Amino acid sequence: MTTRQVEQVINPAGKHFVGDGFLVHNIIPGSQGLSMQRVSPFIMLDYNAPHYFPPSATPRGVGVHPHRGFETVTIAYKGKVEHHDSSGGGGVIGEGDVQWMTAASGVLHKEFHEKEWSKKGGDFQMVQLWVNLPAKDKMSKPKYQALTNAQFGKYSLPNDSGVIEVIAGSYKEVTGPASTFTPLHLLNARLNRGAKAEFSFPANYNTALLVLEGNITVNGKTLVPANNFALFKNEGETFSIEANENSIVLLLSGEPINEPIAHHGPFVMNTKQEILEAFDDFNKGKFGYLED
Ligand code: MN
Repeated sequence: MTTRQVEQVINPAGKHFVGDGFLVHNIIPGSQGLSMQRVSPFIMLDYNAPHYFPPSATPRGVGVHPHRGFETVTIAYKGKVEHHDSSGGGGVIGEGDVQWMTAASGVLHKEFHEKEWSKKGGDFQMVQLWVNLPAKDKMSKPKYQALTNAQFGKYSLPNDSGVIEVIAGSYKEVTGPASTFTPLHLLNARLNRGAKAEFSFPANYNTALLVLEGNITVNGKTLVPANNFALFKNEGETFSIEANENSIVLLLSGEPINEPIAHHGPFVMNTKQEILEAFDDFNKGKFGYLED
C-alpha cells in the first residue's frame, strides 16, 4: 500500500445564489478548473458554507426545475430542506440527513427551506452533489432514498475520538444504506481534536474531501482548513487525516465512469443529441407536472 497524496487544495472563491435559498460555492466543476471527468462519478458539487438566513414567512429556495441523467445527493449539515417532485414524492431533509434522488429519465422538483425552520431562520450549511449515471442507467426510473442519520453505518474510532458515518459504500467492515449504480464511498468523518483516521480506496477511484468544520492535516503534511476542498492524486491507496480541532469532513471516492459527458444546465447525458432530446421531452411535458 502506497500513500495517496493530495494533488490540489481548493479554497473556493466566489459564491452565488441558487434560487434565493442556497448560497453556494460551485467546487465541481467550478472555477478552479476541475472537469466533470476529473472527479467522475462526482460531476457537480455545490457547497453552501455556513450562512445565516434571517426569519422569513415565505420559505426561500429554488422553484420547479427538471433533472435528467444523474442523481442529486443533498446532505444537510445545518438547517432543513423540504422537497417535492413530479412523481408525487416529497419530504424534509433534516440536519445530519441525506436525500439521494435518482433523477435518471427525468423529474421536476423544487427545493425550499423547510417551512417552520424558515420562520425562525438560522445557520444553514449544505452540500449538493451530482452523481453521474452510466449510459445504461440514465433513462431508468426515477427514485428517492431518504436516508436519516440514524440509518448511516457508524464506525467508532478508538478512545471515543470520533465516528465515521457511512452514507454509501463502506468504511472497514461498516457499510452504508444508500444503493448506488456504480461503486462509490460517501463518508462523514466526525473527529474530535487530535483524532486520526486512515482511509484506503483503489488508486483509480477519484477521491476528494471537503472540510465542513475545524481543520485537518492530511498525511501529516497538508493542512486543509474549514470550507476547503482537497483533491487526491490517482496514485496510491491509503491516506490519513488528523483533526487539529474538532472537525467534520466529507469524503468522496468513486470509480470513474469512463464515458463521454454532454452537459447543459440540469441535464447530463452522453451526447449532444440526448441533451436536445431532454429539452424536447421537457418542453413536451414528458417530465410530468409539479405546481409552483
Ligand atoms: Mn434540483
